[in-house]
Amino acid sequence: MAASEVNLLRQLPAVAAVLATAEAASVVERHGRAATTDAIRQVIDEAREVLRVAPVAAPSAADLALRAGELLDAHLPGLRPLFNLTGTVLHTNLGRAVFAETAIEAAVEAMRHAVALEFDLADGARGERDDHVRGLLCELTGAEDATVVNNNAAAVLLCLNTFALGREAVVSRGELIEIGGAFRMPDIMARAGARMVEVGTTNRTHPADYRNAIGEHTGLVLKVHTSNYRIQGFTAEVGARELAAMCDAVGVPLLNDLGSGSLVDLSVHGLVKEPTVREAVAEGARLVTFSGDKLLGGPQAGFIVGDRALIEQINRNPLKRALRLDKVRLAAIEATLNLYRDPDRLAERLPTLRFLARSKADIEAQAHRLQPGVAERLGGMFSVEVGDCFSQVGSGALPLDTLASAALLVRSCGSQRSLEQLAASLRALARPIVGRIAEGALRLDLRCLAETDEAAFLDSLAQLDASDLVDTP
Ligand SMILES: *Cc1c(COP(=O)(O)O)cnc(C)c1O
Repeated sequence: MAASEVNLLRQLPAVAAVLATAEAASVVERHGRAATTDAIRQVIDEAREVLRVAPVAAPSAADLALRAGELLDAHLPGLRPLFNLTGTVLHTNLGRAVFAETAIEAAVEAMRHAVALEFDLADGARGERDDHVRGLLCELTGAEDATVVNNNAAAVLLCLNTFALGREAVVSRGELIEIGGAFRMPDIMARAGARMVEVGTTNRTHPADYRNAIGEHTGLVLKVHTSNYRIQGFTAEVGARELAAMCDAVGVPLLNDLGSGSLVDLSVHGLVKEPTVREAVAEGARLVTFSGDKLLGGPQAGFIVGDRALIEQINRNPLKRALRLDKVRLAAIEATLNLYRDPDRLAERLPTLRFLARSKADIEAQAHRLQPGVAERLGGMFSVEVGDCFSQVGSGALPLDTLASAALLVRSCGSQRSLEQLAASLRALARPIVGRIAEGALRLDLRCLAETDEAAFLDSLAQLDASDLVDTP
């Protein structure tokens, strides 16, 4: 090492000297002493590396403190809000349903205060946490009793474990689903301690297939709504009503796993009908399971509704304790379910339904309204036009039924690479914008952009760096 280099390194301020500056005091104020000290160490190390390769003047203590502050300020929370312009309304990787305002308020209140979670306010005795939603679920589904757990995967696991531990669970080969995130029905059955008995074939299952398989070792018969795919052509399945009658005759419970499971008839809102939970209960399945954050539009949760005696058995299973919900989610669920008691105003108040029910004309008008502002903010490198697209419900619900929608189509006047760079820059914003690149365009489907969010969307775009908007080969 040359003598001049050693001298330069000696001029680098020590951590204590940087911490003593007024600049560092303001960083400590924002981020705390421990994080500030770590960041100062990091910027000193970086400055040392720079001096080793390019012996220029060493930075001052104040400079280093400012740099440490920038480093800490630049760190944004991973779960910060973003604009979901993917066209998938219930995007599992983007957190599925957006909560209704009343659900948000209820959750916030429950976070801030003590609540009567397992406390009976009438007599001051111990209560049950499920009581807050049991009555609503029974009212909305026509079921006798109800319980709630962490998600629908947990609901299915708990039912299997309660009724088929060390016994057989019968299921059609046409319904052995895999849904995202490694939820595979055969694996869940194995982990629940049930022996899977497959009946029928991939495309055809007949009543006799079930009849021959159900016997003294059967703990549960499972019917799964094939929510994320459809088998078409030469097919046959045994309907829930017929299967329920068959199960009742031999005293084996039938579980109908609906997956998404809607509480209202979606065709009323111009959408394709999904089986409602009330219908599934009326068809005679003794247990019905469905998700809280799919079509229902609430927080992540799994509901089990059905016969009181069976629900009581489920609640006595020690696994129920491991899968239960906290007060925050219960508060949000109660508020969300309450909205269903007034179906006339549901589409207005429940964001999931509001987004799904938006007409193409409405979205198109919004696209035309925003197009000039977006084009201006993206500068000369990109063209922006309004185009047709198709949104999806998402979360495996109604997989083949797309919704006609409108998008801003951003095309690069330069290379394809610059379009990908733009998409990456949009994802890096303080409030990221997530679209979808297809057929040479970045598609920003506006279905999930609320009118009240339009200004924030344009503000976000305005945060793009000029360097994001040039072709950098
Ligand atoms: C989505 C789904 C599940 C899992 O539900 P989560 O709430 O995501 O755990 C189970 N079964 C079916 C049929 C589904 O569609």
